[in-house]
Amino acid sequence: MAAKSSHEKFLLWAIIIGVALGIAAGAVFGSKMQSIDWLGVLFLNALKMTIIPLIIAAVISGVASLGDIRKLGKIGGSTVGYYASTTAVAVLIGLAVVNLMRPGDGIASNINTAAASEILEKDPVTFTDIVLTMVSPNLIAAASQMQLLPIIVFSLIFGAALTTVGENGRPVINFFNGINDVMMKLVNWIMYFAPVGIFALIASRLGETGGGQALLEEISGVGTYVLTVILGLSCHFIFLVCLLKIVTGRGLDYITAMSRAIITAFGTASSSATLPITMGCAQKAGVSARSTKFVLPLGATVNMDGTALYEAVAVMFIAQVYAIEMGFYEQTIIFITATLAAIGAAGIPQAGLVTMIIVLSAVNLPLEGISLLLAVDWLLDRFRTAVNVSGDSVGAAIIDKFDNTASR
Ligand code: ASP
Repeated sequence: MAAKSSHEKFLLWAIIIGVALGIAAGAVFGSKMQSIDWLGVLFLNALKMTIIPLIIAAVISGVASLGDIRKLGKIGGSTVGYYASTTAVAVLIGLAVVNLMRPGDGIASNINTAAASEILEKDPVTFTDIVLTMVSPNLIAAASQMQLLPIIVFSLIFGAALTTVGENGRPVINFFNGINDVMMKLVNWIMYFAPVGIFALIASRLGETGGGQALLEEISGVGTYVLTVILGLSCHFIFLVCLLKIVTGRGLDYITAMSRAIITAFGTASSSATLPITMGCAQKAGVSARSTKFVLPLGATVNMDGTALYEAVAVMFIAQVYAIEMGFYEQTIIFITATLAAIGAAGIPQAGLVTMIIVLSAVNLPLEGISLLLAVDWLLDRFRTAVNVSGDSVGAAIIDKFDNTASR
């Protein structure tokens, strides 16, 4: 056990050093670092390769292990309750900091809106789209496009049905249990490549911006906005740690155990790509396999505290730049739509920027305002993805606690 934990510590330090060197190399060598971009892509591809088989096997074996469909309702209810309430808290924190800091005041609104056209040309996401994406007519097509929500919904229903067919279902459950174990083993192996992969992802992305000087220039125009988002995200992170402590009695020990996943989220800007690592860390941190398999896949797709907070801050920032007053009524609409838009955002880089259109349209703000956010979004995306994964991780521990108490 001691050998195992020193080995885990070594890997964590290697990843932290990878992040630090990635920032330093990207800042100093600038665009030259783009030549190692492929190492980051290799790491991302390796993670993505495991996602579909892992989710299918994990969710089916997780639901089947509940044994009784009624328990699915209970754990499902507490999971959805946790997701909804923490996301709502995140948006409230976002609204509070953006009203206090008012980052958009005094910024000129005569910006070049052409940059946003690429995002605005994408088909706008509507609420019915979000509901419709839950059930896919073609699972293979959904899997090939990495649409995780329909895959999860199918696996949930499949797992629930499996618990009702008696003896005939046994070999099927064993089969999926086995696939799950094998996939987790693969993820552990891929983890050894994480320090190099994350180093390459960060260095090449920073290099793409043109290095440290160019990044500082980009940030300087919207510095208070960047600060506001990071401040809001930090407050929410602290809220999550306090909630964890109150409900489970665990605190920084758990967050440290989950830190490989949180750093990977920062490196990849994708909760979905990070999911295999989040699951691996949660199991090692002592969360039961059942909660890990059930709570985390769903969380990586629908629970996005960081994205929700970010969307609220960004939309208020745009309103402030255009000097459009957002009163209590408008902010209530932002509160509701930002929560829903975050649920609808996929766990991929910059997905939040696309679903933000829902929030902007709901309060009649100019959609081109998104141009104001583009330059620094790749950076803020990493911070909000780290908070998204932290929210899922804390959720797994909390639901696990509920589940254990309920089954006692
Ligand atoms: N990149 C985020 C995630 O994967 C989504 C977003 O906010 O753009 O969790």
